[in-house]
Amino acid sequence: MDAHTGSERSKSDDTTSESGSTRGAEPESALETARRQLDGAADHLDLDPNVVERLRHPTKVQEVTVPIKRDDGTVEVFTGYRAQHDSVRGPYKGGLRYHPDVTRDECVGLGMWMTWKCAVMDLPFGGAKGGIAVDPKQLSDGEKERLTRRFTNEIRGVIGPTRDIPAPDMGTDAQTMAWLMDAYSMQEAETIPGVVTGKPPIVGGSEGREEAPGRSVAIVTRAVCEYYGMPLDETTVAIQGYGSVGANAAHQLDEWDASVVAISDVNGAMYDPDGIDVASVPSHDEEPEAVTRYADTVITNDELLELDADVLIPAAIGNVIDAENADAVEAPIVVEGANGPVTSRGDEILADRDVAVIPDILANAGGVTVSYFEWLQDINRRSWSLERVNEELEVEMLEAWRAIRDTFEERDVTWREATYIVALSRIVAAHESRGLWP
Ligand code: GLU
Repeated sequence: MDAHTGSERSKSDDTTSESGSTRGAEPESALETARRQLDGAADHLDLDPNVVERLRHPTKVQEVTVPIKRDDGTVEVFTGYRAQHDSVRGPYKGGLRYHPDVTRDECVGLGMWMTWKCAVMDLPFGGAKGGIAVDPKQLSDGEKERLTRRFTNEIRGVIGPTRDIPAPDMGTDAQTMAWLMDAYSMQEAETIPGVVTGKPPIVGGSEGREEAPGRSVAIVTRAVCEYYGMPLDETTVAIQGYGSVGANAAHQLDEWDASVVAISDVNGAMYDPDGIDVASVPSHDEEPEAVTRYADTVITNDELLELDADVLIPAAIGNVIDAENADAVEAPIVVEGANGPVTSRGDEILADRDVAVIPDILANAGGVTVSYFEWLQDINRRSWSLERVNEELEVEMLEAWRAIRDTFEERDVTWREATYIVALSRIVAAHESRGLWP
């Protein structure tokens, strides 16, 4: 394989802080990264610059105030956002994030990524992202429910099953989506499951939705290993993050006989060069932040990123591979499980070193793909079996992978550029076909 030369190890700061944007001396917002990636991909294509300029900006950003009564009777006021980036290919689609670092710009940048992600997967959706600047760990369940219901009401005018369909993201889950669906439905005086995806199956959610982003990370990892002639049963994998994406990717890869040598959570990483029995480590849902409690050998999250594994999967937070530590990444293949785990500068360094970086907008796109299946099930009032969901997910992932692989082979570009070229070509063609109104 052509990936990877040797590297000097450089020590970097601890990355286990939950902040996705302040690591080291290279703070970069998701919006800056997203715009830089757009410009980089546009340079490879003969695109109408007017359309590219439109894509640098969101269509609309809704900023709302969300007051809630805390359990102690006091009122606290939070700020929420819904950034709608582009809808040329269909209704806006993307997650809602509850995290202290949520900002308007972060939502716009993450919304742009959703536009590309849906286009990569050829789904009939545009891109959006939203959230509330709040630490959900500081709220009781009742407070989270009141927050979600009030937020839903504040953004009610801009969402809807044919307008903009939210989904889970960092800090939100199926229960959050069920409250959103209920709040929206109560106001509309009818049950409207298609307003949101990632709900529990009992209220119109899809089987397999929760596991889908991790599953797609595993499918893409298997495809890229095959491409580089690496049999999975001889491949070692280090995974940062043991939440929904990391744990499901770990379980699937383990089932396919890859050797998962490291997994981690916010407290640190479990490391075993002979392979971890991941089935015996409880997921975050079963026992939150328990990875290091089950470990014989504990290393830091920074050390995990620099392990001599065949594949590195950063599946926790953004901006963990940057100018400071990209030189120290030993793995020849990086598969992005989290959204935006590699900064622009980190990406340049990895590209110079011929590390194959498979981007987030392909790797974790199983989430929004099964969201699409869920939306179809809701519209048709007919649920699919888990087998059907997983089969169709596999088909969609491999189809997207093949389009990107062909572009990668035809042009002298990185995997990320190839992925953006596929996405952007579709979006720009749709814009050119529809034209500018009025
Ligand atoms: N939040 C997820 C993502 O970043 C899923 C979005 C969706 O299903 O709409 O892809």
